[in-house]
Amino acid sequence: MKQSNKKNTRRKFIKQNLLTGAGTMLGMHSVSSLLGNESPKGINIQAAQEGSSLSGQQKPQWVKWPVWDVATDEPPVVEVLRSGVWSRAKVVEQFEAAWAKTIGTKGCVTTVNGTNAMICALAGLEVGGGDEVIIPPYTFIATPQAVLQTGAMPVFVDTDPETFQIDVNKIEEKITPRTRAILPVHIAGIPCDIEGIMKIARKHNLVVVEDACQAWLSEVSHKKVGTFGNAGCFSFQNSKNIPMGEGGAIVSDDEQLIDRCYSYHNYGIAHGSMVAKHGAGLSMFGTKLRLTEYQAAIGLVQLKRLEAQTTIRAENAAYLKSRLESIPGIIPYKLYDHVTRVSFHLFPFRYKKEAFRGLTRAAFLKALSAEGVPCSSGYVTLNTQPFIANAFQSKNFKKMYSPKQLDYNKYMERNRCPQNDILCNEEAVWFTQNILLGSRSDMDYIVAAIEKIHKNAEAIKRSQES
Ligand SMILES: *Cc1c(COP(=O)(O)O)cnc(C)c1O
Repeated sequence: MKQSNKKNTRRKFIKQNLLTGAGTMLGMHSVSSLLGNESPKGINIQAAQEGSSLSGQQKPQWVKWPVWDVATDEPPVVEVLRSGVWSRAKVVEQFEAAWAKTIGTKGCVTTVNGTNAMICALAGLEVGGGDEVIIPPYTFIATPQAVLQTGAMPVFVDTDPETFQIDVNKIEEKITPRTRAILPVHIAGIPCDIEGIMKIARKHNLVVVEDACQAWLSEVSHKKVGTFGNAGCFSFQNSKNIPMGEGGAIVSDDEQLIDRCYSYHNYGIAHGSMVAKHGAGLSMFGTKLRLTEYQAAIGLVQLKRLEAQTTIRAENAAYLKSRLESIPGIIPYKLYDHVTRVSFHLFPFRYKKEAFRGLTRAAFLKALSAEGVPCSSGYVTLNTQPFIANAFQSKNFKKMYSPKQLDYNKYMERNRCPQNDILCNEEAVWFTQNILLGSRSDMDYIVAAIEKIHKNAEAIKRSQES
């Protein structure tokens, strides 16, 4: 019944538009012109749209990332390049000291990237073959890959769709005798319920490594994320809020752990307190994950911007959230009660197509992009991707686990995350951090663009169906 109704209205619509000669404008690519300033001939959308707030308004020029100021940023970096000392030395040490101070921990070891910061921290805590590590599915691919790389098995706990973070109430049911660690992620830079997670970890004697790779300066109860667990890991990759191209860091108050991580990241050569424990020299198992001097130099110049930029992002995000909340079908992230600061690597919200006349998320994203607002549907369902089966089929996994433990169908069943499936496959939409560095009127532009799509949802939907 619904079907035939839909067909009828659609036929009527097509007929109407053929009569006015606008039929050919109804393809996907015409969405931008449908919503643009020039009114497409024959479709009286503009008229239906009172106060078309975008007409005459320039599309915002979003901040280009990374920010690079030749005058202030190049001299210190060029100095390092000209020194000829490019391998780890005093500039890396300077950055580590600055990062530990910024986050508020006793120690910091930098690494080649955030992925390897997590591998190094997990190795430092002796998480490995046979262990299970609890992680959220709503994260970047690096999180589960870091777990697999240590030989441990990722165990997924479903997402709280309101916050986009791991659902703390579902963690305990996933704990088994093999569980060794929780690797919570502060995704988007929005803190997860790390206080709740630490309670569970203490109760079950688990170690915690925080994936704070998107959460530089985020806080819970005025304490920086990355400082709650045994270790916190950060990324300084090009797109991140403090970019070096590639780079990562582990922070901790556990000085032995920092020394173990340092040793591991430097070919296993015993460092600091590890000398007394294992003997000096080539006494430990390790690899090489060292940052370079010029990366650290870039990091030091970028670090100068982080505080002020973080404040701007948070102000814009709060404003944008308050405005978007009033649009039916747009549900921005929620913050947990104790969150005191958010880094906003991403601005996430849920899109409910029911409130947009059934306009699909893909169509919404296309229309919003056409309005000049870059946006994305975000992460895929990591718990269902083939890389896990591929790891299970590896020689190492077959030696570390029993065939029963590697039963992939059972694993899939145990790791189902239905809330996360909805988020990834249907509802999530993001803006990236550079968008939040715009002006107040840029935020208003985003709101106007979404309001416009909301008002014209039916027409956009039909135009994309034909
Ligand atoms: C970027 C990122 C990482 C990994 O960082 P790289 O530096 O790219 O290796 C890990 N986890 C999350 C959530 C990230 O966003």
